[in-house]
Amino acid sequence: MAAQILAGKEIAERIKQEVKNEIEFLKQKGIIPKLVAVQIGENPSSAVYLNAQKKSCQSIGINHEVISLASNISESELIGFIQKLNQDREITGIILQLPLPQGIDVRKVQSTIAVEKDVEGVNPANLGWIIYGRPFLAPCTALAVKELIDSTNIDLYGKEVVMVGHSDIVGKPVALLLVDKFATVSICHIATSEHGMLETHVKMAEILIVAVGKAHLIKGDWIKEGAIVIDVGINKLGDKIVGDVEFETAKEKASWITPVPGGVGPVTTAILLRNTIKAAKNLIT
Ligand code: NDP
Repeated sequence: MAAQILAGKEIAERIKQEVKNEIEFLKQKGIIPKLVAVQIGENPSSAVYLNAQKKSCQSIGINHEVISLASNISESELIGFIQKLNQDREITGIILQLPLPQGIDVRKVQSTIAVEKDVEGVNPANLGWIIYGRPFLAPCTALAVKELIDSTNIDLYGKEVVMVGHSDIVGKPVALLLVDKFATVSICHIATSEHGMLETHVKMAEILIVAVGKAHLIKGDWIKEGAIVIDVGINKLGDKIVGDVEFETAKEKASWITPVPGGVGPVTTAILLRNTIKAAKNLIT
């Protein structure tokens, strides 16, 4: 039987509506949330992304500013700049757009973003709160994956989850968020593939999440009958955007599956808005 489609856009709309209600509450308290995105140098794909981000913020009443800094900025100057944003009482959320120029330690700069304004959840303290099972501002894509899984109403207790990809902002935090609900989580990565074990793991997954960035890495016939499939990957294949999973064949075996585009992406954007409001609310409570 063909899978049901996990329609990210609908879930994103629901989250946006919730966020709008929260904004009304904040306005009554005299707070207008303001998100500042810092980019270094010019990057056309970042510009497209930041424009879309600005639009979605403004559409629900969040102020949004993009600050572009010179590409020859030093690490200490950048850290100093972020510290000023941390102290600015009007700014309630900060995003540091990647990539940064060579020679700047990304992790060091991310760790200087104030924990309570870190709406992308990249400060080590925010990642650490996930380990404690008390996420505050967690990475948006990881939360989006959890939101999509929850929307199927599956009980995670004891479920076999396979997470393919172990990046700091997707694979690792997703695994921790799900382990916290007592799922049995395996994390696969490049060595799993090189060891010839990826297919074996994928075939066991009752819930499969893939965040790699390789078109159609996961073959449709590897999917366990009735599995939930969350495809985070975004890849250009010819003139099409596709995920990491062979969608057409996988949907014949899965019970639920996210499309690419239109699955994880819109929910990630909506979660960024939710994190922004959460950060702003936290400042007044
Ligand atoms: P990273 O490049 O940081 O991580 C990719 C992961 O995949 C690494 O853990 C890597 O392992 C692993 N990997 C690489 N090749 C293989 C393989 N053959 N078999 C198994 N694992 C492999 O990427 P991100 O996590 O940042 O992003 C992953 C994908 O998700 C990208 O396509 C990105 O565009 C997309 N994305 C989508 C978002 C959305 O909102 N929809 C948001 C964020 C990302 P190792 O490090 O060991 O090589």
